[in-house]
Amino acid sequence: MTRYDVAIAGAGILGASAAWRLAQAGAKTLLLEMEARPGYHTTGRSAALYETAYGPAIIRHLTIASGPFFRAPPQGFADHPLLTPRGTMFVAGPDGAAAFEQAQAEALPGTVAEIPVSKALELCPVLRPAWTKRVLYNADAEDMDVAAIHQGYLRGFKAAGGTLACDAAVRGLARTKDGWQIDTVAGAFAAGTFVNAAGAWADEVAALAGLGPIGLVPKRRTAFVFETAYDAAAWPFVCEIAEKFYFKPDAGLIFASPADETPSPPCDAQPEELDIAECAARIEEATTLDIRRIRRKWAGLRCFVADKKPVVGRDAAAENFVWLAAPGGYGIMTSPALGRLCAALVLDRDLPADLAANGVDPAELAPARLAGL
Ligand SMILES: Cc1cc2nc3c(=O)[nH]c(=O)nc-3n(C[C@H](O)[C@H](O)[C@H](O)COP(=O)(O)OP(=O)(O)OC[C@H]3O[C@@H](n4cnc5c(N)ncnc54)[C@H](O)[C@@H]3O)c2cc1C
Repeated sequence: MTRYDVAIAGAGILGASAAWRLAQAGAKTLLLEMEARPGYHTTGRSAALYETAYGPAIIRHLTIASGPFFRAPPQGFADHPLLTPRGTMFVAGPDGAAAFEQAQAEALPGTVAEIPVSKALELCPVLRPAWTKRVLYNADAEDMDVAAIHQGYLRGFKAAGGTLACDAAVRGLARTKDGWQIDTVAGAFAAGTFVNAAGAWADEVAALAGLGPIGLVPKRRTAFVFETAYDAAAWPFVCEIAEKFYFKPDAGLIFASPADETPSPPCDAQPEELDIAECAARIEEATTLDIRRIRRKWAGLRCFVADKKPVVGRDAAAENFVWLAAPGGYGIMTSPALGRLCAALVLDRDLPADLAANGVDPAELAPARLAGL
């Protein structure tokens, strides 16, 4: 049976990011993916937005800490930029006054600023003037090339000597005197440390090891793209202030989501017609967009624990079992920081100085914090 220093379950964006960092650091690393190709689940279904003004404070810190990597990845990581300028407008309609005040109060300094409605209508001319009451703008939000980021991690992982096994669902985990014996659909492996980056299945994978759950709740979010006659290419990402919908241009089409959060068991998530119809109605109320020709629709599972912060760190009951889970709706834009944090924890290294300088405290992400919630 082949033995590895580290085995990771899940080759989504988080597993791939950590795997690359571990292999680069010289750890003999195995990345196990249950599907035929990495990225089939949540990673392949996102809105692809890098947004420093989104999510709880720790997410914003992780996102800001990830910015330098996206803007200047190592040579050879990708053959074109990972980010392209987009900007985000958080728009309050007639019933958005309280949410607007709250968003303004919670914003980190230097991320968003209020702009006049007239400016907002210039940036996105389809907004209805009578509906648009107040607008926060973040000029630094960018579109991410998710496939290039994910492939960059995986390519770097393989170049550093890592092993990726697809069609290799983990189905059994037994503790040994020096680590884990891992039973997968593709055979058995041994590893000193096991990293659980199994996305919506993370609690189920922990159960295979006889460990308790972190209380992960996968929440379905729907997305679709529709045709438009407008030339929308330069519009920003437009998000209703209380996140009742969002939309942005997407390669000649418009991407939209009702920003739904419907609890779901781990599964191959599928969109519901009702969620799409409600989203279309809300967007048509706020804009002059006419949503008739939907080209593609899908859904993905954004996974949260009770405090909505990621879970990264050693399990209290098995210290060679490391969680890398629950990134919610922020896993792509935080993946550089979370991958490095996970690798540092696995290798017992100090927290990278730039993460500390950006306000990232590993205790805030450790699974042990969940005991008191
Ligand atoms: C509609 C939508 C919009 C979003 N927009 C954004 C956005 O704009 N910006 C952003 O940063 N994030 C966004 N997200 C969130 C982001 O997509 C997720 O946070 C991220 O993809 C989660 O990555 P992951 O690696 O944890 O999970 P996944 O990508 O789901 O990867 C987990 C992997 O584990 C594998 N697995 C499961 N069980 C096993 C097992 N037993 N053995 C082996 N492998 C296993 C699965 O097959 C899967 O490939 C959005 C999500 C959705 C759905």
